[in-house]
Amino acid sequence: MKEFAIIDHFFKSRSHQRKDVVIGIGDDCAVTDIPDGQSLAITTDTLVGDVHFFKDANPAAIAHKAVAVNLSDLASMGAEPAWLSLSLSLPNADEEWLETFSQSLAEITDYYAVQLIGGDTVQGPLSITITAHGFVPQGQALTRSGAKPGHLVYVTGTLGDAGAGLDIMRGKLSTSKTSEDFLVKRLHYPTARLLAGTALRRIASACVDVSDGLLSDLGHILESSQCGATIDIGKLPLSVALKEAVGHDDAIRYALDSGDDYELIFTVPEELKGNLDIALANFNIKATCIGQLTGANSKLEMKRDGEPCDEAFFAAKKGFEHFS
Ligand code: ADP
Ligand code: MG
Repeated sequence: MKEFAIIDHFFKSRSHQRKDVVIGIGDDCAVTDIPDGQSLAITTDTLVGDVHFFKDANPAAIAHKAVAVNLSDLASMGAEPAWLSLSLSLPNADEEWLETFSQSLAEITDYYAVQLIGGDTVQGPLSITITAHGFVPQGQALTRSGAKPGHLVYVTGTLGDAGAGLDIMRGKLSTSKTSEDFLVKRLHYPTARLLAGTALRRIASACVDVSDGLLSDLGHILESSQCGATIDIGKLPLSVALKEAVGHDDAIRYALDSGDDYELIFTVPEELKGNLDIALANFNIKATCIGQLTGANSKLEMKRDGEPCDEAFFAAKKGFEHFS
């Protein structure tokens, strides 16, 4: 199959359709309308074969994750997704691979009502770059920099699952079939917390998504907001599967420093805690308060069930960094 046939067959014909797309795939640019009163939020993420996923991984999972990690960035800004573009580098035009990949892409874009509006298709090492565009009401974007000392620190869902899923895939960890399935699914099919992101507008003072790990990503808020934090590691939300797989102490370690969970870490002024509780209940969102911000610049203090925490417990824990 030639480049244009691939684009038409696998991407153009399967793309979800939105009314605000004036021109989609097929011209030199996509042309779209932006609603009055909204700002555009734009983000890009690249997944490279054998860096971000195993080259022989299920293409359905690759497509899902490539979209989900971008939508997660929109979620962390309180934006709702609208459009995607896809830059695809493939070693060869493997039609079976493309069929599974594009079906999964169509599924997730239909689910979130986002339209694939363009991209690029080239021959090269396996790599997928997605750019996602979304809307956020003007002035309401959640940033990393709005947090203040005294604000409460929350996290959605559970942490550490994807990291354990990765260790299962690498053959370094095993547990019951049910727990393995859950943890590996958390790695390959992450959920972007879009509903939480929009519900947190005008409530959260800062927000970030967990791509590199709690310590690393909370660190971004601390640095941007020039705050410190005290975290109670006894309060970290841990899944039953993770605790079964590694025990409680190691579950805490995974939760602190393993990435790829795509939950949201956010901060809330104490006086808005009531509003938060109502928003969480209304939208059936699970979030756990894990600590509070302090005035100590960028300093993260750990407690465990209210008691000072042994330094050795979390020493040398750092999020995954490229080029490190
Ligand atoms: P140009 O040469 O003008 O950049 P291309 O030949 O690269 O255009 O692409 C033709 C059309 O197909 C464009 O509208 C482009 O956005 C779209 N497109 C190319 N690759 C993809 C892809 N992988 N997914 C979605 N749209 C794509
Ligand atoms: Mg091109």
